[in-house]
Amino acid sequence: MKKNNISSLPHNECCGCRICADVCPRECISFIEDSEGFFYPQVNEDLCISCGKCIRACPEINSTYNPKANIVTAAYAEIKSDRDAGSSGGIFGLLAKAILRSGGKVWGAAFDENLKLKHRCASSLSELPPLLKSKYLQSDTSYCFKAILNDLRDDKLVLFSGTPCQCDAIKNIAGKYQDKLITVEVVCHGVPSQSLFDKCIKNIEDRDKCKITSFSFRAKYKGALHPQAFSYVCKKNGNEKTIKGLHYQFPFYFGFQKYITLRPSCYSCKWARPERTADITLADFWGIENYDSSLNAKQGVSAVILNTDKGVDLFNNALQKENIWCETLPIEAAIENNGCLKSPTPLKKEREDFFTALRTKPFDEVVDSFLTSKKQWIFDIYYGMPSFLRRIIRKVMDQRMNYE
Ligand SMILES: Cc1cc2nc3c(=O)[nH]c(=O)nc-3n(C[C@H](O)[C@H](O)[C@H](O)COP(=O)(O)OP(=O)(O)OC[C@H]3O[C@@H](n4cnc5c(N)ncnc54)[C@H](O)[C@@H]3O)c2cc1C
Repeated sequence: MKKNNISSLPHNECCGCRICADVCPRECISFIEDSEGFFYPQVNEDLCISCGKCIRACPEINSTYNPKANIVTAAYAEIKSDRDAGSSGGIFGLLAKAILRSGGKVWGAAFDENLKLKHRCASSLSELPPLLKSKYLQSDTSYCFKAILNDLRDDKLVLFSGTPCQCDAIKNIAGKYQDKLITVEVVCHGVPSQSLFDKCIKNIEDRDKCKITSFSFRAKYKGALHPQAFSYVCKKNGNEKTIKGLHYQFPFYFGFQKYITLRPSCYSCKWARPERTADITLADFWGIENYDSSLNAKQGVSAVILNTDKGVDLFNNALQKENIWCETLPIEAAIENNGCLKSPTPLKKEREDFFTALRTKPFDEVVDSFLTSKKQWIFDIYYGMPSFLRRIIRKVMDQRMNYE
């Protein structure tokens, strides 16, 4: 990098965490949307004093990792409503409650009333629910790192949750306040943009002449024994209706699962490896049934990887105060069936065609060509099969898949 600021970082090396804008003493870094819908920093060179703070804070330039953990805990919230409130075992919610009960603050990704995903702070139990559950798009972290640093300076305990790149970002600037900061990362295979999500929502609103008011990527309604079950609430003529389905029945979700809509840097993610950056790593415990036949990942079992002493303390604190079932297993049990604990999501050839079409064609055509399953009946049969058969099929398909 020639200049002593973030401006020459290539797009595919910017994870979009926005920490550079938060640490700039001249406030001369803005985030500008590109034609794919992702945001990148733009430095006002007239104001920049080349202090280098943005470069030192950047997690892509200064990635940090804990030593690889030896053990992992399979865990879930024993109270059904706590488990159903989360995407997998509901463990994040219980860790957050432990922090809030100790007078701390919790940061996480939440939709606002317009379905814009932003990082927000919960200071009380009543503010926690919107932070729960995975939302499969990039969350806007504008100004949140500045606010967290202020809380840390005021000696407040802060739990920051997010993607690994976001956790590494806050760690980079916490400095002497590290002791008061606890980071919880979700294992992440990449994020699409808010703009694509907005387009897909609007497409359905226009088609069905309704207004979508909430969206869940991990709906756990009765009979939804599938991790990629979605539900959304839409309003039409004053009436509310809940629509449910599986990922291949919602264009945005279908594209996300095909890995063709992710941010460029996600395909070379520096945190998709066994060594983790946060104090605690949370993931779905895929394949848990191979280690304990009484469990089933589809019913919501989290892999909780405790990477630091701070992480161990928080988990033990939650174990004492909350109803958590857990079992210790070797780390390989979690890594074996979770691609993003090993390596980044492979770049698909179709990604470029998708974004070219998004720039040049009407959105309805893009949905038809790239975001709609041509053979829904195959999915219907596939998802009707027992999971062990689906695993075998996936393995064979993976081997035949043509990646770039
Ligand atoms: C974009 C994304 C991709 C993921 N990919 C995988 C994967 O490939 N394999 C896997 O095992 N698990 C993946 N997960 C994690 C998994 O879905 C669960 O979130 C995790 O197991 C925790 O579940 P829980 O029930 O304990 O808590 P939950 O209540 O589900 O935890 C929610 C937590 O996720 C955070 N969060 C939600 N959405 C976002 C977002 N867009 N950006 C930043 N933080 C967010 C919240 O702040 C909160 O901390 C992914 C999550 C996300 C957000």
